[in-house]
Amino acid sequence: MLSEPEWECLSPLLERATNERKTKTMAYLRREKVARGTPAQDEFDARYFEITGRDAREAVHLWHHRIALQGSPCRFCNKPLRTPNASYCAACGR
Ligand SMILES: [Zn+2]
Repeated sequence: MLSEPEWECLSPLLERATNERKTKTMAYLRREKVARGTPAQDEFDARYFEITGRDAREAVHLWHHRIALQGSPCRFCNKPLRTPNASYCAACGR
């Protein structure tokens, strides 16, 4: 999970990598012999690894890896409420 400062740093790179990947053809990918895609993707992968220490294998899943999207912690059991708009806790039911 990414904190908001981490997300603010990575989201522009992720968006650029996603957009660039959409515009590149398979011929480009084969010619450049890059497995995952593009210079923007490589830049994102390097920055993601620098911040998290983890390999960004499939960047599309990272759109959901923000702590802020999990909602605040439940005041009874301290587990995340799962969404920012949750009206009750799915874990303890309160
Ligand atoms: Zn709870």
